[in-house]
Amino acid sequence: MTAQPVLTLNNGVEMPALGLGVYQSSPEDTVSAVETALADGYRLIDTAAAYGNEREVGEGIRRSGVERSEVFVTTKLWISDYGYDAALTGFDASLRRLGLDYVDLYLLHWPMPTEHEATVAAYKAAEKVLDEGRARAIGVCNHSPEHLRALIDRTDVVPGVNQVELHPYFTQVPLRRAHSDLGIVTQAWSPIGGVNVYQSDDPAQQKNVLLDPVVTEIAERHGKTAAQVVLRWQLQHGHSAIPKSVKAHRIAENFDVFDFFLSAEELAAVDALDTGARGGPDPEVVDTSLFPFAIDNS
Ligand code: NDP
Repeated sequence: MTAQPVLTLNNGVEMPALGLGVYQSSPEDTVSAVETALADGYRLIDTAAAYGNEREVGEGIRRSGVERSEVFVTTKLWISDYGYDAALTGFDASLRRLGLDYVDLYLLHWPMPTEHEATVAAYKAAEKVLDEGRARAIGVCNHSPEHLRALIDRTDVVPGVNQVELHPYFTQVPLRRAHSDLGIVTQAWSPIGGVNVYQSDDPAQQKNVLLDPVVTEIAERHGKTAAQVVLRWQLQHGHSAIPKSVKAHRIAENFDVFDFFLSAEELAAVDALDTGARGGPDPEVVDTSLFPFAIDNS
């Protein structure tokens, strides 16, 4: 097996390109998912205050026996904690739940375009924890090029990462171009298109990229699975990807992607699947009334 790829962020910090996501991993499943992933060789775990499983992520890391310094831990500030003081409180609570004294990457979970001042203030709090060494890098999620520029205009540290919905049915070409111009690493959430499946109970609405004949034909050619082909497509485009699974065989499958390469034609065939339609929320309309829940930081 070839070594796993690593991406260098704009402050020199190195981040493994492929990690485990734990959105919708129940607390009961999360400890074993994290432990399994670390035993398989994963070294990046992506959680968030809003996922309700930071405690179990910390527990999984401790149980794995892998050194803390070997694991890249990302967590995120939820929008109910935007504003400077609230963000500092939210960060402290995340560290406490994780049982860690620093995180590797701290992200704002969404932009709140209608509450830009609170968003800027939250990011300034992230800059403070970066300065204190309690986060090794900071960044954002779900920001458009316009959101990024509006934030960068008001703050000192260019985000190291923008974590966004990105899969073959929503390839985000203009945003990826903005990331290259600004020196921001693209991190794909729903990297194997999960959001298009779990957002709907109606199989006819699910638009599952893992069943797309273009992907399954490439998979057959390489003796790999559709998920492995899509993750390979992500990595060969230079993205970080954080597929979620709580099933040991899929956690292993999603990491077994370092021994084959897609050709330029295969990459282009997957690129051409873009529909321009996102499966998740439109970041332009996110606020605390769209997601009316708050984190218990007590
Ligand atoms: P993914 O594209 O990772 O898909 C996850 C779904 O696919 C799950 O239902 C999982 O089920 C299933 N699955 C996993 N591996 C395979 C496989 N090899 N073959 C078939 N099915 C598979 O979507 P997510 O939306 O979960 O995104 C991944 C991560 O991104 C999240 O966990 C989270 O960390 C992050 N995220 C961030 C967001 C943000 O706003 N910043 C928003 C959404 C996600 P099962 O567990 O049963 O295997």
